[in-house]
Amino acid sequence: MGCGDYTEEFVGGEGRGRTAEAVAEEVLDDLLVGAEGTHIRAGIIGEIGCSHSWSEQERIAMEVAVAAQKKTGATISVHPGRHPHAPFEIARFIREAGGRPDRTIMAHVERTLPDLDSLLEFAETGCVVEFDFSGSSPLITLFRISTSRTTANA
Ligand SMILES: [Zn+2]
Repeated sequence: MGCGDYTEEFVGGEGRGRTAEAVAEEVLDDLLVGAEGTHIRAGIIGEIGCSHSWSEQERIAMEVAVAAQKKTGATISVHPGRHPHAPFEIARFIREAGGRPDRTIMAHVERTLPDLDSLLEFAETGCVVEFDFSGSSPLITLFRISTSRTTANA
């Protein structure tokens, strides 16, 4: 089970306008005590949702996620906005906030990064690269690019 906020559009009315302190209290409670009055604790922070560009509420969600990671060591899973720059901006934000790229999963890379060079460049951030659109056409396209490049270099 995860914790933290998805994209602002998904969080909706009652989730909007919460302070960082209120979001942090909920996330830390989910990680350390239990979700919604139970003793069932979240094992991961996320999927934290980021649009492109980030809304203020989404920026708060990422700040809270990094702070919670620093406090607990938990892994963060991130849903990046659909712009090819989004994963890079998020990785930079996490690094500059003192978070751990090696404990950060960037989801949906095959729909977000346009080609193999971008994917390899993103891998240099140290974040975990998650291919999770198995069977969908972007992954197949990436595989084809990769295969043709390997063949061309052989
Ligand atoms: Zn997602």
